[in-house]
Amino acid sequence: MAAETIAASTRAILAGHAALRARLATSLRAGRAAHACLFSGPSGIGKTAVALEYARLLLCDAAGSQPCESCMQCEATRTLQHPDLHLVFPYPPGAIKVKKSGNEPEEIDESGIVDKVSELIASIAADPFTATQIDEGESKSKARARLFSHSVRLPQIRSLLRKVSRRAYQASRKVYVIFHAESMNTQAQNALLKALEEPPPDGYFLLVAENDQDLLPTIRSRCQLIRLGKLNSEVIASALESDGVPSEQASIASKLADGSFLRARELSTQELSALQTDVIDYLVESARCDALELPKTVQKVQERLYSTDRSYFDFLNLFFRDAALYSALAKDASDKLVFRDLEDRIARVGKAYPEADFDAVMNAVDKSAEYISLGYTPDLVLYALSVRIHQALGRRAGKAPKHRMDN
Ligand SMILES: [Zn+2]
Repeated sequence: MAAETIAASTRAILAGHAALRARLATSLRAGRAAHACLFSGPSGIGKTAVALEYARLLLCDAAGSQPCESCMQCEATRTLQHPDLHLVFPYPPGAIKVKKSGNEPEEIDESGIVDKVSELIASIAADPFTATQIDEGESKSKARARLFSHSVRLPQIRSLLRKVSRRAYQASRKVYVIFHAESMNTQAQNALLKALEEPPPDGYFLLVAENDQDLLPTIRSRCQLIRLGKLNSEVIASALESDGVPSEQASIASKLADGSFLRARELSTQELSALQTDVIDYLVESARCDALELPKTVQKVQERLYSTDRSYFDFLNLFFRDAALYSALAKDASDKLVFRDLEDRIARVGKAYPEADFDAVMNAVDKSAEYISLGYTPDLVLYALSVRIHQALGRRAGKAPKHRMDN
């Protein structure tokens, strides 16, 4: 289904980048728009949404600060089907063939991938938080590996450059958007550089990349660098709510998402309650530190880690943050808790472990997330974390101090 209007969640995310979008529009209307822009920032924060809105603004016939949504150009750019809007995506190896005959300029044969590209464009038009890569229907871990195999190739850039010299068909400008620009190899970047150095007066290049540092310095120096920051959790929560996620769930997911709307959305659809149950099981087992039970729990956590990564640890820390808040403020903490529906449990932790050092626990959790991201073996990290949690919680209320139990 074609997107009739921009999704409410996308509007909410765009609102989160309002200042930056206003600056872009102001320069454009003042006749100072850069011919090459590099949109960079972490995954899931709305780079694509912002870059595409700006592309639409460049093509729009009206002179507003946002696409007018009613001119002929806006009609066409809404579905990203506009003859002067050129979108370049990373392709898997072997997806295109280069045809060259005699002195004729080379031509690229994209017939093998054309259907997938139109599918991708349609889904980005409907939802700019769709991955901007060809989906090959594989698992998440394979999709990650794919990040390194898909790239924007030299023949694609050459083909783009041949279009650059042509006049615009329908609008007064031409816009070229290159997604995952960092996936261009040196040759492709050098070929693009020539166009960035002498852009046609009506041509605008928008490069989108997670990390601008991954591009050649020569490319970076030709572009206006537009760095997008992580979203704050209120923006994420309101975007989730406008997608129909219940408010409590939206609030938790937004706090676990580390500034990424995409991650928050995955979390909110991925059954936060299952994650919650697993986290609490792990906490209970860690508190007990029973050598026979712990391995089973660690095994379960390991499985969970594959689908949630850092969010698992963020969840743990939010729980302990609530516990710390509750032991300091008791009932007064109620409306400040992240997990309001877990208030009873949180209160019990505080009562059961009156000497708990929650700061130490939270530090240990952060360290563990770091170790996992550095590639340490998850089960070892999780065992070590259990022991740290057990120690930091301290003596259980009503039980004799440890050295006496050892007798
Ligand atoms: Zn318009």
